[in-house]
Amino acid sequence: MEKTKRVQNKQQLPQPLKEYNLRLDLNKILKNIVNKNNQYTIPIFIPHFGCKNECVFCNQRKITGIDTSVTSKDIYDIIDEHLEYFKNNKKKKKIEIAFFGGSFTGIKIEKQIKYLEVANKYLNEGKIDSIRLSTRPDYISVKILKVLKRYNVDTIELGVQSMDNEVLNESKRGHLRNHVIRAARLIKLFNINLGMQIMVGLPKSTIEKELYTINEVLKLNPKCLRIYPVYVLKESKLYDMYLKKEYVPLSFKDSVNRVYMILKQCKKTNVQVIRIGLQTTDEITVANTDIVGPICDNFAEYVMSKLVLEEIEKYISNKLKDIIKEDIILNVYIPNKYVSVVVGPKKVNKIYLKDKYNITLKVKGES
Ligand code: SF4
Repeated sequence: MEKTKRVQNKQQLPQPLKEYNLRLDLNKILKNIVNKNNQYTIPIFIPHFGCKNECVFCNQRKITGIDTSVTSKDIYDIIDEHLEYFKNNKKKKKIEIAFFGGSFTGIKIEKQIKYLEVANKYLNEGKIDSIRLSTRPDYISVKILKVLKRYNVDTIELGVQSMDNEVLNESKRGHLRNHVIRAARLIKLFNINLGMQIMVGLPKSTIEKELYTINEVLKLNPKCLRIYPVYVLKESKLYDMYLKKEYVPLSFKDSVNRVYMILKQCKKTNVQVIRIGLQTTDEITVANTDIVGPICDNFAEYVMSKLVLEEIEKYISNKLKDIIKEDIILNVYIPNKYVSVVVGPKKVNKIYLKDKYNITLKVKGES
């Protein structure tokens, strides 16, 4: 009798869960996503200067936080302040001056030259390494490029936003797809690095149009890319459209999904994705109720986690499909710095794998 009881107890002991090991090559999975930690940027915002447009999503004051004109002295001050901050540049990071905010080449040419002269002074003194600016596709011409080349501009970023003419019209961009193609080709002809910015969730856009846009953009072979989900800023035209129910912002889930689809296209190329999602500032925050849309402090991390999850699911369907739902442990080995991306923000990947496959994800960071 005693012997039978002992056997029963032994049978009831929980068996250790089966464990499977997966080593992921995160450098390959996230190969296009470039971390600019090896570089300092001196951002100089030129608000709305020279721009005669009223893109529906734009509220330049909200983006830059400045609404006055920028003088050469302002530029000297901004650069000096940053250089002072970078003084202990022990790692010898490259330093870049970046004119952001408005449409640089829409400013009067004399003013552009004044700004570039300041930047060139620092370049000639060896205090900075490169100059970058952003502008609109229809503000690029041979005449303008000759000036930018003369003043050693290394990179021009074009605000493309979409390559679909209906979306461009609905967004009141004031330019069409052909302007983008022409400007991109001219910039390349002048041997200046080409950057492009696109948006997901613009009026009349669909996932098919986002994919069309990225594929058209990649054909132009940009060196770098920024991808932004549309936020609805108060006092923008889009806000009125939103209030009148003429525009519905993308849900957070849909915007992550669209950017993820875009990144899958990017993986076929060597384009460097240098930003995903707007940088949160004092005004652009989750807490700001004047902004509507898929705003999130770590938007990029959600997208990267989805790219990683895709690889984990490929492994599951190839190697574990016969034991799905069996309650197992999956050990994923990756470099330490990627642990949070694999687990996912708010543990999204961990929760998803448990719910869908009954798999317990254990992430093993390695140095
Ligand atoms: S072109 Fe740029 S600055 Fe001008 S309205 Fe559009 S987004 Fe704003």
